[in-house]
Amino acid sequence: MALGLSACHPGEQPGRTALPSAASASAAASTAAAVERLPPSLDGIALAAPDASAVRQPSSPQAWGGARSGRETTLSDRVVDYQIEAKLDPEAHTIEGKQRLSWRNRSAVPVRSVYLHLYLNAFEGEGSTFMSEQRRLGFSFRSEVPVKKGDWGFIELKKVQQAGVAVPWHFVQPDGGPATDRTVVRLDLPQAVAPGGSTTLDIDFFDQLPRVLARTGYFGSFHLVGQWFPKIAVLELPGERGALVPRWNAHEFHLHSEFYADFGSYDVRIDVPEGYTVGATGELQGEPKKQGGRVVHHYVQGDVHDFAWTADKRFAPPLKAIYEGEGSPKVQVQVLYPPEYAHNAPVVLKATLDALAWFSKTLGPYPYRTVTAVVPPFNAKEAGGMEYPTFFTADSYADQTPGTLSHFGQEFVTIHEFGHGYFYGILASNEFEEPFLDEGLNEFWDQRMIHARGQRAPVATAALKRLGVGTTVDVFEAERLGAGLKDPPDGLGQNSWHRHSSGSYGSVYSRTATVLRDLEAQIGSEKLELAFKTYYQRWKFRHPSTADLREVLAEVSGEPALVQRLFEQHIYASRSVDDRVESFKSVEELPLLGLQLGPDGRRSELDKDARAKQVDMLRAQWKKDHPASAQAAKKKDPQTGETLAEPGPFPYRTTVVLRRRGVAVPQTLRVRFADGSVETVRWDDQQSWARFSWVKPAKAVSAELDPERQHYLDLNQLDNSRTLKSDGRAARRIASDAGSLLQTLLALVATL
Ligand SMILES: [Zn+2]
Repeated sequence: MALGLSACHPGEQPGRTALPSAASASAAASTAAAVERLPPSLDGIALAAPDASAVRQPSSPQAWGGARSGRETTLSDRVVDYQIEAKLDPEAHTIEGKQRLSWRNRSAVPVRSVYLHLYLNAFEGEGSTFMSEQRRLGFSFRSEVPVKKGDWGFIELKKVQQAGVAVPWHFVQPDGGPATDRTVVRLDLPQAVAPGGSTTLDIDFFDQLPRVLARTGYFGSFHLVGQWFPKIAVLELPGERGALVPRWNAHEFHLHSEFYADFGSYDVRIDVPEGYTVGATGELQGEPKKQGGRVVHHYVQGDVHDFAWTADKRFAPPLKAIYEGEGSPKVQVQVLYPPEYAHNAPVVLKATLDALAWFSKTLGPYPYRTVTAVVPPFNAKEAGGMEYPTFFTADSYADQTPGTLSHFGQEFVTIHEFGHGYFYGILASNEFEEPFLDEGLNEFWDQRMIHARGQRAPVATAALKRLGVGTTVDVFEAERLGAGLKDPPDGLGQNSWHRHSSGSYGSVYSRTATVLRDLEAQIGSEKLELAFKTYYQRWKFRHPSTADLREVLAEVSGEPALVQRLFEQHIYASRSVDDRVESFKSVEELPLLGLQLGPDGRRSELDKDARAKQVDMLRAQWKKDHPASAQAAKKKDPQTGETLAEPGPFPYRTTVVLRRRGVAVPQTLRVRFADGSVETVRWDDQQSWARFSWVKPAKAVSAELDPERQHYLDLNQLDNSRTLKSDGRAARRIASDAGSLLQTLLALVATL
């Protein structure tokens, strides 16, 4: 692990950081001297493991200050307090920042070294971990906008002081990324922060925003300012997310990774030239103050863990509405949009209000007073589809004809980004290490909202719609098709960077939604909804882990074994489910050939000719005895529409062989017979095949595995049913799978 390069800044002259080019930086890193220059942290507190991922150990009930009852003075147990003054130069796309950061040491040990994220340095050059993963691992991020000359961005620490004393800092790479990565910095404090005590750091910083990429930056006069200030990492305590001793959770900024931070309060003054419209996290404090051609907008928000803002002189007057719901304060909702996308704004506003109602009803009342949605301008699509507390960006589309893919896309993106306000915002999972807890759970809950209101995903573009193409697909069917169910390389609980491919990271969305849909089909919607509500109530404002989710699902569903199995197979590991009907036969049991012992003790032989005669005779006799059978032959099976087979004097032996190619899941096999009877059996063992056999008067008509459609994860549902005469069902399923056009949609919503 190359903790190297890490230009060391002695306390005397912490001043301006030299910005080495990527080339000179790696040259420096390759020298042993550079490696030796980094002294150990001053307090011996370790960092989270570089390969940390889904947690197995449930958190303590006291974690993060214990469950929030709602009767406390603040929504969260606040750990940090940021007071920031930010001055935007919209021509140079730079920000001068002054930050007063107060941090509380929740642990029982003195803390001397603290870590800050400097996220914008991911965009300073190809030497960052973020850019390296693109180049070295072949990962891709959304549209992969190439960075052109002059488009790079960075953040520079100008001054760090603790009680007026300069603080030295060192760049570190906790995940073993290149020594040229400067997205995490360690501050070695002159004074230790006592257990339970707090410290205040005064930090001056300078941002050069990049040309918009990866959810932050500028295009023209538009500025989306995210991941822009020095942000302290999380000190986790024993009993929190599997920690056994206090540990710093600070990871480099990885290509697929999002964020993790402590709750606290933000007080931010944003200074922009006159004529710029500003939107931000939190509540605006009074009228913006004008002075000398500039305007200062003052925002405050408590109980959040990030702060982002936007400024543009081209924004149209915002579209506004008020949301009022039981248990929520009055919520001011606004949509900021550029004139060229005015037709997007009402779609975004309505979807935001709808999502506010859905999430409030199904998880818990929205607790903040504002929501600001931003429609990015033309040519800044990379700023779209991103969430911050009380603030998010939607998408922008040329066409918003109702019933088209792009209209649905805008609705979905809006619901999804708003939904993050709950999973990323209030539940505040660790998105570095357990990204599925945010993206996956959110995706599932968004699709449940779409599904609950009877909406399906259209596959038609506006042009196709004009031609009368109105095909739609069930949203969970769409998720299943895009979920990469066959032979997945990574468990859903894998962290965001140690991934086989970008596609595998993408499965965090669709495959999680499919796993949870599968769980819902098995435990029932009522229990699933109650479990999610309980998860939210118990863990809001507290950073739950995978294990904490698992425990709630196990407890509330009343089916711990089922939940455990699902987590072991799909979250902690990467298995597939692939059960099928391998063979299905139903044949008459005719009298048996060979020697038979008569009642007199003598053997007689039944040969083929003798049997043929006997069969003819018995059939004729049977017809005479059953005159109604001619009528029966014309009857139709009410389910399949097939003509029922004529019964006769001989019984049928029906045999079904089931085959399992993936992991074992409890299965149901339903066999229907020509006389309308049905046999249902459970297959619930660990074997890779099973044979079931019946001897009944009637011939079998169909054999169907998973008839109640409980296993959304089953790789191929076409091989789950067989009929002895052709029926249309398999064909109809193929037709619905042709919704692979839906891949378009999924590509669109992935990585939002
Ligand atoms: Zn998302």
